[in-house]
Amino acid sequence: MKRWQDNVCIECVQGDITQQPDMDAIVNAANGALLPGGGVCGAIHRAAGPGLAQECRPLAPIRPGQAVITGGHRLPNAHVIHCLGPVYGVDEPADILLASCYREAMTLCEQHGLLSVAFPAISTGIFGYPVEPAAQVAINTVLTTLPACSSLKRVRFVLFSDADLACYQRVLNEWKNPG
Ligand code: ADP
Repeated sequence: MKRWQDNVCIECVQGDITQQPDMDAIVNAANGALLPGGGVCGAIHRAAGPGLAQECRPLAPIRPGQAVITGGHRLPNAHVIHCLGPVYGVDEPADILLASCYREAMTLCEQHGLLSVAFPAISTGIFGYPVEPAAQVAINTVLTTLPACSSLKRVRFVLFSDADLACYQRVLNEWKNPG
């Protein structure tokens, strides 16, 4: 499904974050050391090849809520934006740190003049953040940050499961501008 907000197309799709060839950047649900791991991170490093881990090494460590940008290496995308989401129940306040991931990623898009970015559901896998509140934070942060981004024209949420997709779609549909 798609929604237009501030002349930007926001969409939710079911799929694999490494298979989004029409996006300028994909976002990695990274670990603090920016090393290949499981989940999204493992899939991105496998698809990008060893050059990605090499480029990441001098940028690490990053703290919860922080985002850094690299090239896409063997991925079809020019850039990867690595975000460290909060570990649920450990890194607090979780909602503020998760929002910071999305905001910092969008700031990097703006700084690099990117037109499109695809996000996975940061922190909802190994880091244990429940999907519904994570979707609320993700969608609210992206939609409220859009007015400050002049370059972005498309933002895509890529969800692995049908249940996660349904949740994101509902939250996106129901979202109302707080301003
Ligand atoms: P975190 O450590 O931030 O929790 P994970 O990578 O463990 O990150 O999971 C984040 C979310 O991404 C989970 O909902 C998981 O199901 C999903 N996911 C895992 N692999 C992929 C993939 N290749 N593409 C898109 N989403 C994925």
